[in-house]
Parts: sequence; C-alpha cells; structure tokens
Amino acid sequence: MYWKDGTKMQWDDGIQNKTHDEKLDNPDLEDMMSQKYVKGSNWDSPPAENFEPGRIRYEPFFTKMYGSSSGEVQRSLVSVSWLPSICGCTVQFNNINGAAAQLQKVSDEIEASLGKEFHKYINKTAGTFNWRKIAGTNRLSTHAFGTSIDINTKYSNYWQWDGNMVWKNQIPMEIVEIFEKHGFIWGGKWYHYDTMHFEYRPELLVD
Ligand SMILES: [Zn+2]
Repeated sequence: MYWKDGTKMQWDDGIQNKTHDEKLDNPDLEDMMSQKYVKGSNWDSPPAENFEPGRIRYEPFFTKMYGSSSGEVQRSLVSVSWLPSICGCTVQFNNINGAAAQLQKVSDEIEASLGKEFHKYINKTAGTFNWRKIAGTNRLSTHAFGTSIDINTKYSNYWQWDGNMVWKNQIPMEIVEIFEKHGFIWGGKWYHYDTMHFEYRPELLVD
C-alpha cells in the first residue's frame, strides 16, 4: 500500500494459515481487510465464530494515519458537540481523515431523525479518546487514536462482561445505520461483541 508521502506498507506478510488469535496479534493489511463488513440491518446475525470485520487491525496503519503516541494523537484532537439536545456533551475526536467532521454528521442526523424512544441509548457517552491498550492484550484500542466513541453502557453488551460468548444486543439498528452512513463500523457486528462501540473505519465501508 502506498501512502501519499511515499511510505510503503506491505499488504501480505506471507505467513500462511494464521489462527484468528494470531491474526489479531500479528496481522498484515490483508488480514485486516479479510472479513467484509456488511452495512445495515440485513446482516448475518448473530455473527459466526470469529467473524468480526474491523477487529483485526494492522496497528502501523493507525499509528501512521492518526498518531503514534498519546501526545501526537492529542495534537490532532478537536472538540465535537455531541448530541447537544440529547447528551449535551463535548467530546474529543481526531480531525485527521475527517473523522471528527463525520462524527458531527452522526450527531446532527441522530438529532434530526430519531425520536425520544432512542434517547436512552445515547444520552450518555462512555468516552472517545483514551490512550490505552485493549484490556488483556498488547494491542492499542482505537480509542487511543481518538476515532471511536462508546455510547451509554447501561444498554450495552460486551463479551468481556458477560463471561460467555452468547451474542446479545439492545442497541436499535436505527442508531447503527446512521453511524454506518457516515463511516463508522459497529462493535455489535462482531463475534466478540461490543455493542456500545462505534469506530471510524471508512476503509471497511467502501461499496
Ligand atoms: Zn469502545
């Protein structure tokens, strides 16, 4: 893969027959793009074992794009007025690639189109930027890049909280579809489900 500044990234590391855990821990770009994210409510639910498009991430792609240290990412963060009439929140989001502008569009569309019955899911946010690794792993969370937002945990399901791998979800698809329209994938479509989590991944949403 060629970057505009001339940087080259290898697509295929040549390692065959990786297990899913090996793809998570040591992926190449090919692994990252190997599962197709299906937009909309007509997706294969619940997800098949280890089917979780977007959860395999080639970390150098993200550190190159959005920043390779907490300080570097923070220099690219801007404030987004998130759901002013529902949440009344100001969140920090990465300005690179239009991520923050796209989050603002999600906010605008939710406010303009979703009724009160949807507000309980989104009237709180569990955070955006946080330079941290994913719990129990050596991998950076996409919250480290300021490109992800968690909505209200009260109505969310997360595989690590549940102690089993039985997929559950309470988040309405109307909310999910607005995020997807503006370049975000949803952690609810993963085998290792994380239904509060929305992540800016336009490279997975190209039709
Ligand atoms: Zn999250």
